Amino acid sequence: MKDTNPTYKLILFGDGGVGKTSLAHRYLTGVFNEGIGVTIGVEFYIKNIMIGGKSIKLQVWDFGGEQRFRFLLPSYCKKSDGGLFLYDITNLSTLHSLKQWMEVISVNAPNIPILVVGTKTDLVEKRKVTKEEAVQVSKNHKMSGFVEVSAKTGFNVENVFETILKIMMSKTL
Ligand code: GDP
Ligand code: MG
Repeated sequence: MKDTNPTYKLILFGDGGVGKTSLAHRYLTGVFNEGIGVTIGVEFYIKNIMIGGKSIKLQVWDFGGEQRFRFLLPSYCKKSDGGLFLYDITNLSTLHSLKQWMEVISVNAPNIPILVVGTKTDLVEKRKVTKEEAVQVSKNHKMSGFVEVSAKTGFNVENVFETILKIMMSKTL
């Protein structure tokens, strides 16, 4: 049978080490793998999902955030329908790097919905970034929303993908 389900392309971005690959793996496989290596260049995954009674194909693009891979970013952004910007709640500079990331994203994928996602909420004692600070930064950059997650415990993992997908789908009707 011909596969006619619409495809949505979601890009993950944010500094190296914030947990992009771990979040994608947790969502797609349901497990947290401590031994994930550094992402070289770009990896991408596909998942068929039902959302709001509709079958869709979700493509998740996971970008190696390291400086030496940044040259791939413009082509990586092209034709994306939405994004998740990840920062690590134990590292404030990863939140403030949103500005640099948006300089590239806004040129290459203008007006896509993006959620700001604080990662590693299980590291309670190491927290350096409050929710209020992150909400403020999200608002300053006119992002579509803010969520905190833990790929380790699974906290909000389904929720963050479901939230961005619903926004992406409502924009492409
Ligand atoms: P990426 O470079 O953004 O893809 O980050 P990775 O997914 O490779 O994760 C970087 C490091 O953070 C790894 O050591 C992960 O095990 C760890 N990590 C990722 N997510 C979490 C989390 O939710 N909780 C904790 N405690 N560690 C995490
Ligand atoms: Mg990675």
